[in-house]
Amino acid sequence: MSSKRMRIAIQKSGRLSQDSEELLQSCGLKINKREARLIAHVDNYPIDILRVRDDDIPGLVMDGVIDIGIVGENVLEETRLQREKVGLPTEYKLLKKMDFGGCRLSLAIPDEMEWHGLETINGMKVATTYPFLTRRYLEENHIQFKTVLLTGSVEIAPRAGLADCICDLVSSGATIEANGLKEVQVVFRSKAVMIQRIKELYPEKQEILDKIMPRIDGMIQAHGSKYIMLHAPKNNLDEIIKILPGCENPTIMELAGNPDHVALHMVSQEAHFWENMEKLKALGCSSILVLPIEKMLK
Ligand code: ATP
Ligand code: ZN
Repeated sequence: MSSKRMRIAIQKSGRLSQDSEELLQSCGLKINKREARLIAHVDNYPIDILRVRDDDIPGLVMDGVIDIGIVGENVLEETRLQREKVGLPTEYKLLKKMDFGGCRLSLAIPDEMEWHGLETINGMKVATTYPFLTRRYLEENHIQFKTVLLTGSVEIAPRAGLADCICDLVSSGATIEANGLKEVQVVFRSKAVMIQRIKELYPEKQEILDKIMPRIDGMIQAHGSKYIMLHAPKNNLDEIIKILPGCENPTIMELAGNPDHVALHMVSQEAHFWENMEKLKALGCSSILVLPIEKMLK
């Protein structure tokens, strides 16, 4: 094994795979991928991409056998608690929170069961893939319970008579609903994160990482931002600029044949933009264009 090549672990096939791979590619890494391979070489940098089950990623980083991993915080924290219990190394360095893989670990109970706060499940059996996160939460809240460990199809456990309720990952909530359950309490919120082993990297690898991290920042920033162009009345300019956060220095241009208005170009956070749309119109803005931004370096 070459120690000079940086090793980055991502999920082989699952919900994080495509986003992880696309992120690395958008940072300029040319991944030479053959589907069945565990290791994919990067053609233009001394980097190897390890494609493994997501559950293995935190351990590989904590054992220091790979340099970088991209994994969900849920799996990361569950593995940390699990390893802590048996005395395995648990240290890692958090490099970056990603803008994908968002989900929550939530308690869900059968539709027909009434919910009166956490007390409702006191003494019950809880089916979950995340016994350590579930235990930590319920113990902190002084709830008595038993966990039933299931690594898949957790949502069918109550109907199958294996447990009274579940603690499972939810994003839209559709799976839970389709199985006659209702989400009642969030236990842990998660996103994908990029982590690094705690032992320092060889200088050559650190150099590559220093080059890649600003690109990742740029990608994450670009995802949430839009390039906005609009026509604004000159007499309301200050107020208009105030409502669009993140546009400290808009470009202002004269409009031919329209002395009372100017064109305003700026980068703004998309979420805030929509919230402020009506206000902008009320202030006399028109011809509003919102364009996607592919990459951004500040
Ligand atoms: P593997 O074969 O790699 O073990 P898996 O079945 O454990 O795959 P996936 O279902 O692909 O894992 O989920 C991977 C991660 O994606 C989860 O651990 C979580 O961080 C994130 N995720 C985002 N949304 C959801 C969701 N609705 N349900 C489950 N996981 C989600
Ligand atoms: Zn998994």
